[in-house]
Amino acid sequence: MRQARAEAAGLADSLMRQWDGVVEAAALTANDDEHDPEGPTIAYERERLQAMREHVRGELTDLDRAAQRLRDGVYWTCEGCGGPIAAARLSARPTARTCIGCASPSTAQTRYRR
Ligand SMILES: [Zn+2]
Repeated sequence: MRQARAEAAGLADSLMRQWDGVVEAAALTANDDEHDPEGPTIAYERERLQAMREHVRGELTDLDRAAQRLRDGVYWTCEGCGGPIAAARLSARPTARTCIGCASPSTAQTRYRR
């Protein structure tokens, strides 16, 4: 039990590190300059930053949700089937809310047909 708790704490740490990265990226994109006359490069850059900002927004929502799941003690529980989510999956993708079986549509369909 102690080991599982230590693992969860480690995951919370990695979540927070990811969070910091996202906040940093958000701060960077918030600084983009409206009045730089550099032409197409800047326009392209701005578009890229805009896309990144959208991405960051989604990421923040996912991280918020993961943090809430951690607080609720259901971080390790699949939202789809109620089974456990593999630790390897969560360390690769800390914001995962379903097990691999539920995340893969083809598997879900197979299960439906039975
Ligand atoms: Zn599942």
